Amino acid sequence: MKKVILITGAARGIGRGMVEELSKNREYIIIANYNKSEEEAIKLKKRIGENIEIYKADVTNKIEIEDMINYIIDKYGKIDVLINNAGISQIKMFNDITEQDWNNMITTNLTSAFFTTKAVISNMIHNKNGCIINISSIWGMVGGSCEVHYSAAKAGLIGMSKALAKELGPSNIRVNIVAPGDIDTDMNKELSVESIQEIKEGTPLRRIGKPIDIARCVKWLIEDEFTTGQVVSPNGGWVI
Ligand code: NAP
Repeated sequence: MKKVILITGAARGIGRGMVEELSKNREYIIIANYNKSEEEAIKLKKRIGENIEIYKADVTNKIEIEDMINYIIDKYGKIDVLINNAGISQIKMFNDITEQDWNNMITTNLTSAFFTTKAVISNMIHNKNGCIINISSIWGMVGGSCEVHYSAAKAGLIGMSKALAKELGPSNIRVNIVAPGDIDTDMNKELSVESIQEIKEGTPLRRIGKPIDIARCVKWLIEDEFTTGQVVSPNGGWVI
């Protein structure tokens, strides 16, 4: 039976890397969620072909999330894998973070995972099968200067995932966290050449990551059957 996989924020960056890697397995049906990047989503669908569907929904909107997940369950009967990847970042001194910045960050990066998980969980428990992968960040593990709200949201995802792993393990649902280091996507397009050079020099593997580095890790977590509640951090050794 084919595995049904939902990836949020999948039209570009790390999410698109996951779609490209996972769609090589014709036993997977991938629902690639997007919000603003419609053009990129359509291009991706055209390029990958049959085993992906694209679906527009804003992960901060509970109703749109529920509609998307109900659509998938009505059509395929199940969701085997939920990957909460959609996210935003912002670099600001703590003193300059407004209440609106804080709320945006927490809603997009953390509450969104609460909405998606709530919407899929009855189906996963009923099927006694499920895999949830939450994309956090090294800053959720060690804290990032000038990214306090981002670090708080990403640390929240780690706590949420570990607690869920304990609660849902008896229902054969695994919940894991992938916490990438710096990855070459639009999220880092503001970084100067000097900053990128500094990151490379501070990284034992002497490079920043690519979306495929995260996609390979996710692929392994989907296929593995005995890992739950763990933080896996592909970061080139930047954080050890
Ligand atoms: P990106 O290139 O900026 O892409 C962000 C993705 O999130 C886009 O696909 C975007 O979709 C989606 N998104 C944002 N807000 C959304 C919303 N309200 N509803 C639905 N989708 C939304 O970033 P990325 O580097 O691929 O990041 C992906 C994940 O990895 C994020 O959670 C990020 O925090 C995490 N991460 C990234 C890095 C890094 O260095 N790049 C490191 C650690 C962790 P649309 O464009 O369609 O709106």
